[in-house]
Parts: sequence; structure tokens; C-alpha cells
Amino acid sequence: EIGFYKDQFVDINENVVPIQERGHQFGDGVYEVIRVYNGKPFLLNEHLDRLVKSAEAIYLELPYPPERIYEIISEGLEKSGLTEAEIYMQITRGIAPRAHLFPTTPSVMSMTIKNARVVDKKKRIDGVTVTLMEDERWKNCYIKSLNLLPNVIAKQKAATNGHEEAIFIRDGFITEGSSSNIFIVKNGTLITTPATNFILHGITRAAVIKLASKCNIPFEERKFDREFLNEADEAFITSTSAEILPISKIDDISLSPNRPITNLLYNEYCGLYK
Ligand code: PLP
Repeated sequence: EIGFYKDQFVDINENVVPIQERGHQFGDGVYEVIRVYNGKPFLLNEHLDRLVKSAEAIYLELPYPPERIYEIISEGLEKSGLTEAEIYMQITRGIAPRAHLFPTTPSVMSMTIKNARVVDKKKRIDGVTVTLMEDERWKNCYIKSLNLLPNVIAKQKAATNGHEEAIFIRDGFITEGSSSNIFIVKNGTLITTPATNFILHGITRAAVIKLASKCNIPFEERKFDREFLNEADEAFITSTSAEILPISKIDDISLSPNRPITNLLYNEYCGLYK
């Protein structure tokens, strides 16, 4: 495991963030999580493209050009010695005396490379339970911002009640999970929430949509509500770390354990990096 802060690799447990860091004091920054399979960062270009978009959306200049970020990632991976890893990287508006206005000091990148968190086999097979919750986040959820307080609280409430994930509802419609996107299958059609400002445009989500097209699975991006979700034939969440994870239960409503389309897509997804 290894860390990186402001131009240098550091021990992951070293104290490196100055008190007056804008990430620390304001959550003023953006981040990415990238999975490494067999030594290779998966969908790296897609993640870095999204990082650039998130940064632009908050008027943040990257401290390095993308080519340099690629170099730092491969150097870090080599130093870490890991092949099944998770890269966390964030860019903040840097270090400056605390004041709301943007500082003129350069932005700062930090990164950790750690062993990948692998989802339990049992959860993969049995599926996970989720609980519905009001989406209390702001309106720019497409930005992968460091401000995760509503997500953290929702995930904790879900866990306290024995659920794997909180699924958000905004204005009566399902948006996404606290750290995942959501898909359902109804009468053979794969359906997911449209990629508006109200959800993060997941890299795994995009990969699943491509796979559906490859497998000739009818697909629709459209809004759906709680009742429609409860009546789904199949439902699953997607994220870089969870990949494709079946939902077995939504609050008190159990879904069928037959999941032909979820299983097909999961097998195809694994084939992308194997
Ligand atoms: N939605 C939210 C709110 C997330 O935090 C995440 C990732 O952690 C996702 C969706 C899934 O995105 P990705 O597939 O790019 O990991």
C-alpha cells in the first residue's frame, strides 16, 4: 500500500495534510476511485475523463496534465507491488489561509493505492438488501465532489438497519444509491435512471449499458418510481468496487432469486478485465 500527496509518494500512514488544506477545511475538491485488475487500471481513460469534467465543473485546475497523472499512477502501482488494487485519487483547491474565495495557490493531488475490497461471495450469490431514502443531496450529483456527507449518513442509516445500500428518491423518482447506480429489469428490458445532474454518471453504469447493447438486451434510460422498482423482475446496483451486485430485497419487498439478465451482464463484465 502506498500514498501520494503533493508531488511525492508517502507512507500511507504518514501525516501529510496541512491544516489549511481546502479539501480538509471545505471539502473543496473532486475524486475518483479506480479498480486495478491484474496490475492494470480498469477503464482508466474513462475515470480520468470524468475527473477532468468534475474539476471543470467546480472551476478547479488540475495540478498536472493527464499524461503526468497516468505516470504517477503507474509509478505508484509499481511501488505498491499490488496487482488487485483500488486507487483513490483526489484533487483539492490546495493549501491557503482559510477563506471562501478561491486561492491563487496551486491545486493538490493525493492518492492511495490499496488492496482491492472484494465483495463477499455470499452477497454476490444471494444479492443484497437496500432501503429507500429521501435524496437530500444538492443538484449537482454528476460532479464527483468530496462533499459526501449526505451519502455517508444515508449509507450509515442503511447499515444500521441491516441494509447494504441506501437508494435515493428525489421528487418521487429513484435516482441512485449512496455509492452506486441502480438498474432494473422489467419484461426483459433493462432500465436505468437517465444521466442527468441528479446522478453520478457511473463508469460501471456506462460499461453495463454497452454490454447490454452487445448482448442485444433491450435498454431504456428513464425515470421510475418506488412502485415500479418494487415490481421489478430483477434489480442490481453498479459501482467500481461492487461491480454488478444483485438486489434481493427493497425494504420489505423481496425480489425473485432468478436473475438471468443480471447474471449474464455480470459474466460479461468480468470478461472485460479477465
Ligand atoms: N453513484 C454514486 C453516488 C457513487 O458514489 C458512485 C461510486 O462510488 C457511483 C454512483 C458508481 O460510479 P462508478 O461506477 O463510476 O464507480
